[in-house]
Amino acid sequence: MRPDILFPLFAPLTSLRGIGPKMAPLYKRLCGEHVVDLLWHLPTGMIDRGYSPKLRQAEKGRVATLVITIAEHAPPKTPKLPYRIIGADETDQITINYFNAKGDYLSTLYPVGAKVAVSGLIDRFRGGWHMNHPDYAVPAARRSEIPRFEPVYPLTEGLSGKMLRKSAQLALEKAPELPEWNDPHLLVREKWPAWKEALRLAHNPGEDNKTARRRLAYDELLADQLALAVIRRHHRETKGRALPGTGNLCKKLEAALPFSLTSGQRQAIAEISANMKAPKRMLRLLQGDVGSGKTIVALFAMLQAAENGAQAAFMAPTEILAAQHYARLSEFLKPVGIKVGLLTGKGRGKDRAETLEKLASGELKLVVGTHALFQDEVEYADLGVAVVDEQHRFGVNERLRLSDKGRGVDILVMTATPIPRTLTLTAYGDMDVSRLPDKPAGRQAIDTRLINMERLDEVIAGVKRAIAKGARAYWVCPLIEESEKSDLAAATARAELLTRSLGANNVGLVHGRMPAEARDKAMAAFASGTIKVLVATTVIEVGVDVKEATLMIVEHAERFGLAQLHQLRGRVGRGAAKSSCLLLYDAPLGEVAKARLTMLRETEDGFRIAEEDLRLRGPGELLGLRQSGAREFRLADLARDGDQLEIASDDAKLILSRDPELQADRGKVLRILLYLFQRDAAVPLLRAG
Ligand code: ADP
Ligand code: MG
Repeated sequence: MRPDILFPLFAPLTSLRGIGPKMAPLYKRLCGEHVVDLLWHLPTGMIDRGYSPKLRQAEKGRVATLVITIAEHAPPKTPKLPYRIIGADETDQITINYFNAKGDYLSTLYPVGAKVAVSGLIDRFRGGWHMNHPDYAVPAARRSEIPRFEPVYPLTEGLSGKMLRKSAQLALEKAPELPEWNDPHLLVREKWPAWKEALRLAHNPGEDNKTARRRLAYDELLADQLALAVIRRHHRETKGRALPGTGNLCKKLEAALPFSLTSGQRQAIAEISANMKAPKRMLRLLQGDVGSGKTIVALFAMLQAAENGAQAAFMAPTEILAAQHYARLSEFLKPVGIKVGLLTGKGRGKDRAETLEKLASGELKLVVGTHALFQDEVEYADLGVAVVDEQHRFGVNERLRLSDKGRGVDILVMTATPIPRTLTLTAYGDMDVSRLPDKPAGRQAIDTRLINMERLDEVIAGVKRAIAKGARAYWVCPLIEESEKSDLAAATARAELLTRSLGANNVGLVHGRMPAEARDKAMAAFASGTIKVLVATTVIEVGVDVKEATLMIVEHAERFGLAQLHQLRGRVGRGAAKSSCLLLYDAPLGEVAKARLTMLRETEDGFRIAEEDLRLRGPGELLGLRQSGAREFRLADLARDGDQLEIASDDAKLILSRDPELQADRGKVLRILLYLFQRDAAVPLLRAG
């Protein structure tokens, strides 16, 4: 198979008719820039236009397709009123309403006396039938032009369902027929269609398109497993290097620390140091609860590399976190007398150019940043170790890219999501693991409470009292739907409500869509205490270290993963003062939800919470990226319907375990899968052969 049959999939979306420079940014926001991104943007539902009742028997509130004879037009008397068209079938009358419509256009669409087929939502209003803005209106003779089933896509402002449906169909035309990569037995057993057919069915849902979607989801999971397998192999096959260090920088750092290391930290540092000394490549996972002090452990690893004259990069998942790590590491490093740089996607101009230059020349040994650290334009003179913080937030692509940046780079990944032992292998493969079981001394237990959302007023009153005494509070609003817009609206509304009770100068808001400067400003105001309450749309923004924050309020806690709630809770209780975490829920809570939240109230042991989450929810949910607020899988997430998908992912593992076959087929399978799902990752692999 030649990879160029895949090229049309990676053509820019602007190569499709109807997507020009004006529309492209909207599509980009929604799904991406390439044809394949649109193909992966699957409908979340469908409209069935097959309901064609006579008006007298019709049910209100349904989408119906009717053939009516047009009786008269009633233009609006004032611009606020709708333009009305009155028609009827043999049994009853119906009014078609248009707001802000042009009369001329409507008289051509609905000639008086003509039979017109209309399709849209029908409703009763003041004793009569109404349809506002029909989705379709065509002469009755052309009724067949109204499709029976119509996909419903997630949309963004400025993009209509109609536009999206049209471009999705155009994208489908571009999709190539691909050679089959799935096991034939699996295809027969699951009755799966071929790839392109599955894609077509997924975008043109009929009575049932679950099978098609399941196949696509399976492909994606398989691709993920394969990519991990490839990373592991790649990793094992590349030679490492010995970075024994001299100890002088590390000693200086330890001597200057304002605290003494916990025994867990000491052990982790020793384990990492031993790995780095050895000529093998390090691939180590550092697990430790939020606040357990992973950053400082990483800094020791970075300094050990620098002692050998090699470089070290620290990758954080967001700009805010990168900036915070930068500030903290700079502070720690002052007495050591070594500089650290900052590199994110945002910085521009002279500073950035200078940082890039110093990394390329080797003058700068340590750098902190976002995934921008591993973009093509960034060159390292001699990268020795890469640290990945909160690694679950990065995709396979980034992880692979990073190991591609130097020869035999040692890798340390850190996570505060305590993955249960049974799942570590699936999630991380054969990594070595260090754990930080103990928290730094002086931490107090956090008082966790479950509170019915109906008591919101009391909660707000409580926050008011607390901030009057100098406390600071996080207020987290969850993702409401898959749409950033409604998500944002909810947080904005909450911030407004809180502002009314707590005063405007006390409340700040951060969300994913606001410019980085504004966000940083709000964060800084919270950190310095100028504002007392920080409302946030997602967890991403609250991944910061503010010792004075003693209140964490999470709305709709039942919608979060346990691990995620645990992480949020870890944002408080970092200072000496007593902290509380209020989990607000919408009653009534289901059995599982109740058990989960109760569990959280009873323990702060992240590993125990993870084990319990696994027991209550099953591995699919836990490994799926729901818990981190981001989405790892584009198709598998949508198609997840209980056990079916787990069977699929088990199959994927099974296929992988039959390694010889995979080997034989490696060229074919990997190229396709990686191209499709992990295309950034595929590039270095293809280059490497
Ligand atoms: P994590 O990344 O594991 O959530 P951090 O590395 O951000 O945790 O550490 C949390 C806080 O604890 C930081 O302010 C850090 O300086 C502090 N800290 C780290 N190790 C210790 C220690 N041994 N004793 C006291 N405080 C510590
Ligand atoms: Mg951290």
